[in-house]
Amino acid sequence: MSHQPAIPALAAADPEVAGLVEDEAKRQHEKIRLIASENYVSQAVLEATGTVLTNKYSEGYAGKRYYEGQQLIDQVETLAIERAKSVFGAEHANVQPYSGSPANLAAYLAFAKPGDTVLGMALPDGGHLTHGWSVSATGKWFTPVRYGVGKETGRVDLDQVRDLAREHRPKLIFAGGTAIPRTIDFPAFAEIAREVGAVLVADIAHIAGLVAGGAHPSPVGHAQVITTTTHKTLRGPRGAMILSDAEHAKAVDKAVFPGLQGGPHNHTTAAIAVALGEAAKPSFADYAHAIVANAKALAEALVERGYDLVSGGTDNHLLLIDLTNKGVAGKPAAQALDRAGIELNYNTVPFDPRKPFDPSGIRLGTAAITTRGLRPEHQPQVAEWIDRTVAAVAKDDEAALPAIAAEIRELLASFPIPGYTA
Ligand SMILES: *Cc1c(COP(=O)(O)O)cnc(C)c1O
Repeated sequence: MSHQPAIPALAAADPEVAGLVEDEAKRQHEKIRLIASENYVSQAVLEATGTVLTNKYSEGYAGKRYYEGQQLIDQVETLAIERAKSVFGAEHANVQPYSGSPANLAAYLAFAKPGDTVLGMALPDGGHLTHGWSVSATGKWFTPVRYGVGKETGRVDLDQVRDLAREHRPKLIFAGGTAIPRTIDFPAFAEIAREVGAVLVADIAHIAGLVAGGAHPSPVGHAQVITTTTHKTLRGPRGAMILSDAEHAKAVDKAVFPGLQGGPHNHTTAAIAVALGEAAKPSFADYAHAIVANAKALAEALVERGYDLVSGGTDNHLLLIDLTNKGVAGKPAAQALDRAGIELNYNTVPFDPRKPFDPSGIRLGTAAITTRGLRPEHQPQVAEWIDRTVAAVAKDDEAALPAIAAEIRELLASFPIPGYTA
């Protein structure tokens, strides 16, 4: 049983860290990982992140660096950029942002001034912190206006987006979020942004892999600027990219460097190139569509068991469940599910009467289990395990959990993961 690639030098030099890494690999093997923003990257991506490219400083861009010795780094970064442009059909790509949050900050720096009005989705309705939520720098340094979902529909309220945009004339409009189970209507957002003269930023952090695989409509051609993480459904290393049209390219690049960052993480850039190479293959489209098929099957099985899904279901990889009708809050449910071998997160639901640190819901995603090879026919069993655990929480029956964890380990034994040999 060990981490792959093997880590013998680490084990010899620092058994304490190596032991934790080995245990984490085992943990990732033994659990049904349903955290909507997580995945299993390929062994090739893992290897690329562990290379000597981490040794190199390369502030600037290919052909215009501030340090010497860029003969090979320039090629690595250019490869990542060209693959990003090709996979997404974008005119420009910047692959240097350290992660999704700095990528979004770069969009602010490029196209807004401190104090300017920005329109984004409210966090409790499914938006991200960096879309102008008050505790985020983006909510403190800019003037945020927030849209949400309709109370009846649980879907983005585009009438509200249009009304707020007309009233407040934002510099930036963010489309996208972290807990949106439905298709994002990029053409509708684009029409609103055009009308009020705002730059539309599509934040596809969660759905980038679905977009790349043709399982969600693309924002390219609708949003001038597209930010994304590379580590969620896209299944690359922890990192981010900004795609844009040619007109906004220069401002994006200047904002990332020298605006916000110093040297790019070249080992990450190489791994992004590898992940994009994988995303260009036909098998990636199969994976993207299988994610959605798994999510729909899981949603259906949970609805059959009386679960209250925000918006009633899902179009993508993500399910948001309000547990109020089960008499259980999100946090104790998430914690018990983790002990039962199912890893997910507690989450606010729209119009949640409870506090963000102790909300009413849980959020689930099917990217990681799809990578692992689970299919729609497995989802009724996953739903049964979730239901049995939630029922145990309601009855305060901690003793029911180890049996569930054992059943899960047994199923998963025949679904190997990259990064670990059992
Ligand atoms: C995850 C996420 C981010 C932030 O990414 P980090 O890499 O965690 O900083 C930004 N926007 C959205 C919509 C996200 O889901």
